[in-house]
Amino acid sequence: MQPPEIQIRVEDDRTGLSQETLKRAFLDNLFYIQGKFPRLASKNDYYMALAYTVRDRLLKRWLSTTATYLDRQQRCVCYLSAEFLMGPHLGNNLINLGIYDQVKRAVEDLCIDFEALLEQEEEPGLGNGGLGRLAACYLDSLATQEIPAFGFGIRYEFGIFDQEIKDGWQVEITDKWLRYGNPWEIPRPEWSVEVPFGGYTERFRDERGRDRIRWIPSQTIKGIPYDTPILGYRTNTANTLRLWKAEASESFNFSAFNDGDYYGAVREKVMSENLTKVLYPNDAKVIGKQLRLEQQFFFVSCTLQHLIRILAGQNFPVARFHEKFALQLNDTHPAIAIAELMRLLLDREQMDWDAAWAIVQQSFAYTNHTLLPEALEKWPIAMFGSLLPRHLEIIYEINSRFLDEVRLRFPGDNDRLARLSLIDESGERYVRMAYLACVGSHTINGVAELHSALLKKTVLADFYEVFPEKFTNKTNGVTPRRWLVLSNPRLTDLITDAIGSRWIEHLEDLRQLESYVEDAGFRAQWRQVKYAIKQDLAAYLEKRLGIQVDPQSLFDMQVKRIHEYKRQHLNILHVATLYLRLKRDPNLEMTPRTFIFGGKAAPSYTMAKLTIKLVNAVGEIVNKDPVSRDRLKVAFVPDFNVTIGQKIYPAADLSEQISTAGMEASGTGNMKFAMNGALTIGTLDGANIEIREEVGAENFFLFGLSAAEVCELKARGYRPQDYSQSNEMLQAVLDLIADGYFSHGDRDLFRPLLDRLQSDDPFLVLADYQSYIDCQDRVSQVYRDPDQWSRKSILNTARMGKFSSDRAIREYCRDIWKVEPVPIDLAAYPFDAGSCQIQ
Ligand SMILES: *Cc1c(COP(=O)(O)O)cnc(C)c1O
Repeated sequence: MQPPEIQIRVEDDRTGLSQETLKRAFLDNLFYIQGKFPRLASKNDYYMALAYTVRDRLLKRWLSTTATYLDRQQRCVCYLSAEFLMGPHLGNNLINLGIYDQVKRAVEDLCIDFEALLEQEEEPGLGNGGLGRLAACYLDSLATQEIPAFGFGIRYEFGIFDQEIKDGWQVEITDKWLRYGNPWEIPRPEWSVEVPFGGYTERFRDERGRDRIRWIPSQTIKGIPYDTPILGYRTNTANTLRLWKAEASESFNFSAFNDGDYYGAVREKVMSENLTKVLYPNDAKVIGKQLRLEQQFFFVSCTLQHLIRILAGQNFPVARFHEKFALQLNDTHPAIAIAELMRLLLDREQMDWDAAWAIVQQSFAYTNHTLLPEALEKWPIAMFGSLLPRHLEIIYEINSRFLDEVRLRFPGDNDRLARLSLIDESGERYVRMAYLACVGSHTINGVAELHSALLKKTVLADFYEVFPEKFTNKTNGVTPRRWLVLSNPRLTDLITDAIGSRWIEHLEDLRQLESYVEDAGFRAQWRQVKYAIKQDLAAYLEKRLGIQVDPQSLFDMQVKRIHEYKRQHLNILHVATLYLRLKRDPNLEMTPRTFIFGGKAAPSYTMAKLTIKLVNAVGEIVNKDPVSRDRLKVAFVPDFNVTIGQKIYPAADLSEQISTAGMEASGTGNMKFAMNGALTIGTLDGANIEIREEVGAENFFLFGLSAAEVCELKARGYRPQDYSQSNEMLQAVLDLIADGYFSHGDRDLFRPLLDRLQSDDPFLVLADYQSYIDCQDRVSQVYRDPDQWSRKSILNTARMGKFSSDRAIREYCRDIWKVEPVPIDLAAYPFDAGSCQIQ
């Protein structure tokens, strides 16, 4: 007789990392969570099972981190942002946990396509572009550097729209990212918060005989936190991203229900839930919609009430709020927090004004993201007052006290008072949110050296005069984990084989690659890697767009939101110029190029949408014409997002960073490209300037007017026609478009775009055209010499250390937040079943 089989499990199914345990856990989750067995399982079931398997493996880190922060009395960073453009979680968590290869093997052992499961994840597109992506990179770096930190934002049910291209035009499709469930978030309905809106305020005398104010709102909405773990790279720290969802308040409208107005009560409920329904799809432009202000106040109020509740739970005096929390305002979207914290301290905590204001000013810091006047948020007083009557009173009081100080410092200077007032009184009256942020914060920063300098000279010049000590610069950065290790495994391996893997957390170490620049073998390997990545992208373009491109050709890329200041139209004028050269001389020698564009246009931004149509129209002709099709290709990749970015950035030879100087605050796409070994063609704008300083002028293709020259030219009186009339090629290209050459003879189609270029051309496309074309010709020349190109490419990667978000976060921690790392000891919290005590 056989003895009974005794199985000894040395590994727990929820934490074990051996291949066998991972397989068992995966199948277990498929069965017990998805309720499927392999024969019935869809790709999504497999994805979910895998996601839960990975989530199980980071929960201990997450709960230990949370417990540590509750127990210790350290200062915590609270990053307040209306947008977090996280990108897919699965691959990133595998990298950060250090189990990517084991899990891949376990999944493949079950004969399941691992890549397909990664592709299955719908990315949480809860942001428009650079600003939201910056918040995501910063969360990664905070966790990696073991900094106690939370991200606070909005759980939009619909994130940024999905973009489809139909007949060359952008079509917007709603982003149903929650359709199949989100395995990464945990709702915490028991920690909900009530947020008041509307109504009026009244004075009253409290039981101690003090004159006070109370807000009688007309409505309250409930905020439910949804928590997502943010794991650091190879650390035990897993911080929390807490996003708030709006729901109907239970207490409210009970009476309507009792009065028999059942449908009225249901309508209220539906209206409440609308609040966090959709992300506004405008980038670098404000829209004065009340719902947007409601969203901003909602997530900020939820967050601040929640923070005060944490202090109460710890018996920590609210008078020392600022010792516990460093609140960062990612642009002015959360700036209403300054008035809301005042309200909570004054009305709820019954503090006096000066004490409350001191706490506020020591808690907040403000990051400005743009100089564009159309992007500076301001709210009409009437709307603001009807939605937030108490906050309007508080803002008036902040303003009055601030202007009293200004009056003392600048006697008789009434113009200055009007310029500095938090209330714009030049026409219809508005609350200026950037000004509120400046007065209520201890520190104000721009996001690149040039941007921070221009802030002090232009939009915030008056504030700089009053508070010079508040102003500083924090140049943006991006996380090398997502933008190199995860998205570019080939280059990661090549680099790591050469210099080891310390660079992943210490990006300055990439400098060691400089010693390989003269190694012909290494250069050849570098080229092989780039070639293989380009082949992958070529296969993707063929499959998705049916466009065949040559991986040997120069991959020339511009992916970013479509905006006139970013000048995608300048890029397409270059394409049309090359095409016209070929038409004029079919035997012309030309460096073959593949132009890749990607980016979404705000649905109401007509000029941007027309630019997309123009790219596709030029592509249609150039890709087909026998004279050009073997040398020039144009591809517009639809639905540019983080997932697609991970395929695009690594495959670039040339990165287009061609904004009008002075208009791009920093850019971060420029950093992702250069880290992956692309050379930049760019203006002296945003972080381009610092990238050029780091990589060396000889490894950067510079063109165009400087910010100062742009300013002078505009002051002199810019006449775009002077440039087209004196430039035969430019005129010929504009005429070709106007003639309907790219639009089947339709001469009206692109007229709005051409009229804008030839009448006012606010972004100086024509002024920079020739300089751009000349520079592109130099690019083509250098590309013809692969060895020279590879040297420059290697040096770009080698010298990008500065642009890690780890460096940026270290500076924020040291100069603004004054926070220190808190390492997490997993042994300190015996949560495991059996050793966990229930009290
Ligand atoms: C990095 C990134 C951006 C920002 O790109 P810029 O070129 O700096 O404007 C926008 N969208 C996505 C999806 C990104 O990953």
